Amino acid sequence: MKKILAISLFCFASVVLNAQTAENSPYKRHIDKLASEEFAGRKAATKGDTLAVNYIVSELQRIQGVELLGDNGLQVVPFEEKVRGNADGLKIPKTTFNVAAMVEATETNNPSGEIVVIGAHYDHVGIKTVDGEGKVCYGADDNASGVAYLIELARKIAEERENLKRDVVFVFFGAEELGLIGSGYFANNPLVPAEKIKVMVNFDMLGRMNAKGLTVRGVGTAKEAVYMFAALPNPDKLELIWEMRGKGPTDYASFYRKGIPAFSFSTRTHKDYHTPADTPDKINYEGMDMADAYIMSFVKQLIFGAPVLTYQEQ
Ligand SMILES: [Zn+2]
Repeated sequence: MKKILAISLFCFASVVLNAQTAENSPYKRHIDKLASEEFAGRKAATKGDTLAVNYIVSELQRIQGVELLGDNGLQVVPFEEKVRGNADGLKIPKTTFNVAAMVEATETNNPSGEIVVIGAHYDHVGIKTVDGEGKVCYGADDNASGVAYLIELARKIAEERENLKRDVVFVFFGAEELGLIGSGYFANNPLVPAEKIKVMVNFDMLGRMNAKGLTVRGVGTAKEAVYMFAALPNPDKLELIWEMRGKGPTDYASFYRKGIPAFSFSTRTHKDYHTPADTPDKINYEGMDMADAYIMSFVKQLIFGAPVLTYQEQ
């Protein structure tokens, strides 16, 4: 009996602790909003897509020191969508957006105007038919988690802008799920001088850390990167996987293809990936904080230290 009581008290305590972590997390309100019924799975060129764009712009507008790029933060991204089941390969022209903003370093700190691009896609797969019924795929982990993280990262970096050695450009990509369309468009039309972009960092799915797993993609895309990662502190003892290739299945690949060292962080896939079960209640906020500690130690080096990264094919 005592033992049962002790166990149930312990369970109760950990539930309360988890709940507190979630409630206090700065990421929660973004994820709850982006992955809500209203946003209907944020499929490119749908109403939910536009709602997500507006939400991100309004959040960025409220951060002091962040200036919107493009047209009030928007970059129009034209694309063509194949008509399903059409044998003639009929395509319909559509439009989505990238959202872009910048925190500028002082001229003294960054005389040559070097740039770090940090990105995350905000779109998802919309509504899927399950057992003959249309169901919203909420995309809480994929990739409301990355967007929430990027908004809060912009806030943190804006607070430290006096110390930046490089300008930081934040991009929220559209239409990733249709084939890295938004990031591909931005990499070709970057809104800032392309030759000044020294490195790209991407976040895709940071919300479902399991067994302390964190994957870093693109570790082979700069000669120096593997040594940088090897020297990073890992106080939470994360189970790290470093993937060397630059052509992984997310937006960093669009920058790698343009000859820019590019990295992507993810807490990895799970059984709810691209299903209606990728919901906000399953987000591991403690895991997001652990990922954040590791990611920040890397990002800080890029923006406050400005190390030379030499591109290599991988
Ligand atoms: Zn994704």
